[in-house]
Amino acid sequence: MRIDLHTHSSASDGTDTPGDLVREAARAGLDVVALTDHDAMSGWAEAQQVADEVGITLVPGLEISTRFRHRGVHLLAYLPDPAHPPLVAELDRILAGRTARTPAIVAALREHGIDISEDDVRRESGGSVAAGRPHVADALVRRGVVADRGEAFATLLSPGQPGYVNRYASALEEMVPLVVAAGGVAVLAHPWGRGSRGVLDADALAGLQDLGLAGIEVDHQDHSAADRAELRALARDLDLVVTGSSDHHGLGKVDHDLGVNTTEPEQYERLVSLAGRTPGG
Ligand code: AMP
Ligand code: ZN
Ligand code: FE
Ligand code: FE
Repeated sequence: MRIDLHTHSSASDGTDTPGDLVREAARAGLDVVALTDHDAMSGWAEAQQVADEVGITLVPGLEISTRFRHRGVHLLAYLPDPAHPPLVAELDRILAGRTARTPAIVAALREHGIDISEDDVRRESGGSVAAGRPHVADALVRRGVVADRGEAFATLLSPGQPGYVNRYASALEEMVPLVVAAGGVAVLAHPWGRGSRGVLDADALAGLQDLGLAGIEVDHQDHSAADRAELRALARDLDLVVTGSSDHHGLGKVDHDLGVNTTEPEQYERLVSLAGRTPGG
């Protein structure tokens, strides 16, 4: 059993359509793939249809933008009820923040002397309801301003840089119980990626577990071997589910191929047993 529990499609900032992503997952030899677009569930239906066609198990999920101790933290939510009104309302609020941010980023970049328009970005974000910096990056690539998404994030779009604009994110301590109330399972995405190690320490993880956090993503490309060993030990102490995944973005992120990290079947079974429903059902 090969299980990859974190991927993105063009419903957010991946480059594959949800259907193509699932087809690719099957081709890559995966038995189970979770679609976890940023703040969006709009790719689920197409992904499920193709999963049925190609005979792979789809776990519907999402990666929610949250804030914890003034830092951005990504929360994976698996199998929540997509019609749970408070969850839908909160996701709408996050998506509205994304939509409102794009013109602000474009204005900031223009102020900085870069010729880019809202239409340029809209062309890249296309069918996505979750417009994000990667789409701005793609527009900058097309304009010849930078070579790739990586360069855009390294020079223009990160905090402290000319094109950075903050946006709304939910409080993590409120989102964890909300995911649980929606029948979903809450797992922290890349908890020690990009310098978050300081805020998501053992005490913080224990506190979040009390609120309903089920697990942590340990095997992720943003974690060093030493980080992974320490996180695995922490998860064992706290009895948290351990996951591993690719965080695939299609062509949008190098070194994140489908199945590059995987989740152990026992850990996956445990995770599914905590959800209000089963994959495919
Ligand atoms: P946003 O969702 O607009 O806040 O943009 C953040 C997203 O951009 C992250 O969730 C990643 O998927 C992506 N991202 C962040 N850094 C990079 C990078 N260096 N190269 C490519 N994508 C990135
Ligand atoms: Zn992303
Ligand atoms: Fe993330
Ligand atoms: Fe992700």
